[in-house]
Amino acid sequence: MSDDQIKGDGAIRRQSLYGSSIENTYAGVLSFMRRNYTRNLDGVDVAVSGIPLDLSVTYRSGARQGPQAIRAASVQLAELKPYPWGFDPFDDLAVIDYGDCWFDAHNPLTIKPSIIEHARTILASGAKMLTFGGDHFVTYPLLIAHAENYGKPLALLHFDAHCDTWPDDEPDSLNHGTMFYKAVKEGLIDPAKSVQVGIRTWNDDFMGLNVLGAPWVHDNGVDATIAEIKKTIGDAPVYVTFDIDCLDPAFAPGTGTPVPGGLTTAQALKIIRNLGDLNIVGMDVVEVAPSYDQSEITAIAAAHIACDMLCLMRNKKVAGTL
Ligand code: MN
Ligand code: MN
Repeated sequence: MSDDQIKGDGAIRRQSLYGSSIENTYAGVLSFMRRNYTRNLDGVDVAVSGIPLDLSVTYRSGARQGPQAIRAASVQLAELKPYPWGFDPFDDLAVIDYGDCWFDAHNPLTIKPSIIEHARTILASGAKMLTFGGDHFVTYPLLIAHAENYGKPLALLHFDAHCDTWPDDEPDSLNHGTMFYKAVKEGLIDPAKSVQVGIRTWNDDFMGLNVLGAPWVHDNGVDATIAEIKKTIGDAPVYVTFDIDCLDPAFAPGTGTPVPGGLTTAQALKIIRNLGDLNIVGMDVVEVAPSYDQSEITAIAAAHIACDMLCLMRNKKVAGTL
């Protein structure tokens, strides 16, 4: 049977990395946007994977189930051409669902090396990564692997209620609030070329990163936010990390450390959709904790953000700049 005759479960039945299949939105094998479930990285542009870790949280756990929730929430996005793009990103962009990173949750000191190895394997193929947390700690080993692959320091574009630069000089700590302190100290990221959007928690020292706090975004608007991001990052290789608690709890209740006063989903989507000029080398969406979610609000928001990231990658591939 040819791919275009497949009805249902394209995730495990489609042969080509390209194109979409006909699915009942409410049923079937739940890969992200129905992409092929495979570990074969030949010819892959973007590998989606999950890192189901939530041992690094400071408040409510549950983000280990984030990857499953985002996959389940992506079904509607696989039915129609994504809005407002108006194209099927998979006509041009080869995207797979690589499944989840395996690590030994009962042997905490092995977790960071396991995530680094997971990322190294994917990046060595030439594919880019779109990763679902898990809590935000996962971005630290992902940054280590991306800096190895793309050269350090990278720029960081970081959406969050929290700066995640609180001091932490313990080399083996699992902490979802200190990764970017370590990333600056270790030269993985250049703070002068990095931007944090949506911050609304205090730190005495933001480690030199450029902070566009949530009040700044509300006062100055989304267009000014996009302009500041582009001005600061320019054409530097940039890793984009989206902690879903950047969104206000009204728009993302399903997360471990919600903080009032955040961005709307509409604000965040407009920002993401206008990042096409950036030289994006890696992406993640983290901190979705479905046990605190209502009506999948948070997971659906995360799936849309991830879909828009893939649409940016599709445009880059078509333009020859991926
Ligand atoms: Mn965070
Ligand atoms: Mn956060």
